[in-house]
Amino acid sequence: MRPPYLLLDIDGVLIPFPNADGSTPATHARHDVVPTGRSADNPVTVWLDPAHGPMLMDVIRTGLVTPVWCTSWRQDATTLIGPLLGLPALSYVDLPRPQITTSHPNGYLWKRDHVDAWLGDAPAVWIDDDFTGLDHAWAAERTAKGTSTLLIQPDPHHGLQPAHLTGLTTWVSQLPTARAA
Ligand SMILES: [Mg+2]
Repeated sequence: MRPPYLLLDIDGVLIPFPNADGSTPATHARHDVVPTGRSADNPVTVWLDPAHGPMLMDVIRTGLVTPVWCTSWRQDATTLIGPLLGLPALSYVDLPRPQITTSHPNGYLWKRDHVDAWLGDAPAVWIDDDFTGLDHAWAAERTAKGTSTLLIQPDPHHGLQPAHLTGLTTWVSQLPTARAA
């Protein structure tokens, strides 16, 4: 059977939210990037932890998951953000662009309906900082129906931590598919 997908968010996971005083973690380095559709003289400043690239590569190299960007950066995740972390060109979920003013227009993460359709019956571990209780219920229901689903939710001010990936690896290695491999 196929390995589970690893769906990766960026904002609040690899790019932390600034603290109230505008500061970002000392671990992160500043980059100015020009997202698709933006003019070169109007870049966006992002903060990235150079340790995240090797951390993610350690997981990717196990072959236990199939990594895919799942972020409103869409293709720019592949072409702009990933390379800054030394990551290979990962594919991405081509999310829609809904006209919404909240990330939970129906009480759950706006990406979820699209992800649900995209995944079909594939198992998945999904890292995003913005799940609600309804998303966790969705994951539990998928798992109960035999489609293993793990949500990992970093604190958006701290972003992805090594323990998140340790938990991911433990979870994946305990799946029936991993044991059978
Ligand atoms: Mg996010």
